[in-house]
Amino acid sequence: MPADLHLHTTASDGTLTPEALVVEAARLGLTTIAITDHDTMDGVREAYLAGEKLNLKVIPGIEINTEWKGLEVHILGYYPDMNHPHFNDMLLTLQEARKERVIRTVDKLKFLGVKIDLDDVLAESGGKCLGRPHIARVLINNGYATTQREAFELFIGPEAPAYVPRFKLSPEQAIAIILKAGGIPVLAHPGVLDRDDIIYFLIRHGLMGIEVFHPDHNARQTQLYLKMARKMGLLITGGSDCHGPRGKKRGLLGKVKISQRYIDELESAITGAPESNQL
Ligand code: AMP
Ligand code: FE
Ligand code: FE
Ligand code: ZN
Repeated sequence: MPADLHLHTTASDGTLTPEALVVEAARLGLTTIAITDHDTMDGVREAYLAGEKLNLKVIPGIEINTEWKGLEVHILGYYPDMNHPHFNDMLLTLQEARKERVIRTVDKLKFLGVKIDLDDVLAESGGKCLGRPHIARVLINNGYATTQREAFELFIGPEAPAYVPRFKLSPEQAIAIILKAGGIPVLAHPGVLDRDDIIYFLIRHGLMGIEVFHPDHNARQTQLYLKMARKMGLLITGGSDCHGPRGKKRGLLGKVKISQRYIDELESAITGAPESNQL
């Protein structure tokens, strides 16, 4: 009963629509997936409806990129109630900050002589939850870069000249809002961060799990986090972090699969009223 609990769709910076992702997941024989778009749950309903038709379970989720001591810390949330008003307000604030950031980045690029159209970036993203990958795609379409990675290196990555920071929550704030919405907060790919002290710190703030299985973790890290999760009583999750077949940076769909027992443990840990966590 393989499951992939870390997936992005066109609702954020993935390249497959929620429905196409579900169809592909079913074709690959996955039985459960979680949609974990950046700062939005707009893709969840479409995926859920497509999953119903194909007998594929879709877990509602989110990924919030936060900042801690100058580092990017990604917090996953499973089963938050997407109609929770405070949670929703927070997502709208983050989406607004993303839009502002894109506008400022396009301006900065213009100043550097790189002329791309804001409207093209909005069209790439669908206009709601924008990310730098959407800018990267327009840069590629206009011949300024050949790959997303190159676009980040040359223009929009943290060391590049058109980098613009955006408003981010702290990981404690992201955990708090996910808990408030009845969701389960999980630290994404801790091996990418490689600062295990944050795990102890975040547990004190309500962290309930860690993403043990991830394409960027080597075998040693996977074993380390597995052991750590068991010792600390944390939930264990995993997934491919697929952004679609074009986004080769991370894994492809189903590249990382976890077994049903982890899904069962996750479900039995839902904190809110069960009906408010369902669609
Ligand atoms: P943003 O959400 O706008 O800050 O953009 C971050 C997203 O860009 C991440 O979720 C990845 O999908 C992608 N990304 C981050 N760093 C890189 C990189 N160096 N090369 C390619 N894609 C990246
Ligand atoms: Fe992403
Ligand atoms: Fe992430
Ligand atoms: Zn991700």
